[in-house]
Formats: sequence, structure tokens, C-alpha cells
Amino acid sequence: MATLDRDEGVVLTMRDYAETDRIITLLTPGHGKLSLLAKAARRATSRFGGALDLANRLQVVYYVRRKGLHLLREASLVESSPGLREDLDRLDAALWGLALADRVLPAESPDWASYARVRSYVSSLAGGLDPSLGRVAFSLQLLVAAGHRPRLEGCLACGKGEELTWHPERGGLLCRQCGGGGADVPPKVWKSMSALTRFPLTRAGRLRLDASTLSHIMGLVEGFWGHQLQR
Ligand SMILES: [Zn+2]
Repeated sequence: MATLDRDEGVVLTMRDYAETDRIITLLTPGHGKLSLLAKAARRATSRFGGALDLANRLQVVYYVRRKGLHLLREASLVESSPGLREDLDRLDAALWGLALADRVLPAESPDWASYARVRSYVSSLAGGLDPSLGRVAFSLQLLVAAGHRPRLEGCLACGKGEELTWHPERGGLLCRQCGGGGADVPPKVWKSMSALTRFPLTRAGRLRLDASTLSHIMGLVEGFWGHQLQR
């Protein structure tokens, strides 16, 4: 007998499968990231109606299968984000964030903090969060939620706040006296990063970060993610 399980979750990715099926990845609070096979989901008469769509929050019931994909039995819409579909930049930023979460979060490893981050990112974007700021803040906050918090309180070896450089392999900032190398990370950049890890997304706009600071931070965060994913 197949076991039935249930949870709620946010649709991270969706792709066509076979003639009329779809495979969705759902980030759930109780079961982590799940891959579910939605049989006949592309038929006009599909039992899932319009519930299966990116960024939607669903309530699902599924058959647990030990091998292969779990089988989706019921899906009902809890919350869609109409605000997102009205603005292409915000929708783009949301899909980018969902794809990031899909790439970096391990399968079936429940993690409430990452789930909360993803939900808050989608709803903040739908509520008007600036998409460029949102991407940077979310990417950094997802690092923290997934247990890879970078050290951003000055040099990680001596605590000094000057001549700092970026060392993902050591876990954060390192000053030149302690062996740091490469480009300087200006105080404005690392202090803003530190603030972004503490500010809720809805209030990140108060930091008034300019485009060049945001793009500098994004480069550092991407380097850090790259290192975490290689390990
Ligand atoms: Zn140092």
C-alpha cells in the first residue's frame, strides 16, 4: 500500500513530462523540497485546475514513493500572487529566486527558515519590493537560512574593520595582515551586507543602497554560494 502524505508549499519549478504530465518542485515546511509528478496536469480537464503555477502556494496530498517521483493526488490553491504577474521585472526576480532556491536547497530536508525566506521573498515582491534590491537581499538571506552565514563583522581572524577582502573558503572577510588578498571590500559594502542579513525584506529599502553597491554585493554573494555548492 502506498503511503499518503500532505503538506503545503511554494511551487519552485515546473516542467512538462511525457504526453500530458507535469513535474513540479515544491518547497514545503514539513518535508523540504519535494519533486512531484502531476499526472495529466496539462489536460484541459485536469483535476488540479489552475493551481499548479510558479510561485503559487498550494496545499497538497501525495503518494510517497520510495523510488522515483512522488505522485501528486490533490492540489488546492492557498495563495497566488496577482501583484507579481502585473510587473514583468518583479515576476522575473521572483522566478530567479525560486530557481535559486531549487538549485541550492537539498531535496527532502525540512528547513523552516529557508521556507519562510522564500515565502517572504515572493510576497514582498508582490507587495512592491524593488526587484534589484530583492534579488540581492534574498540571495544573502537564503545563505543565512540554509546555514551558510558569512562572517561580516570585520576580519574573521582579528576583528579589524579595515583593508578587508573576501574569502568564501574561509567563511567571510579577512584583512590583509591576516592573509587576505584580492580586491578590497569597501566598508559601505560589507556593512550593507551585514545589515541586509538582519533587515526584513519589507524594510530593506530603508538602507537606500545604490546600484553599484548592490551589484558589488551580488558578486560577493554569488562567489560565496559558488563555494558552498562545491563543498
Ligand atoms: Zn585580520
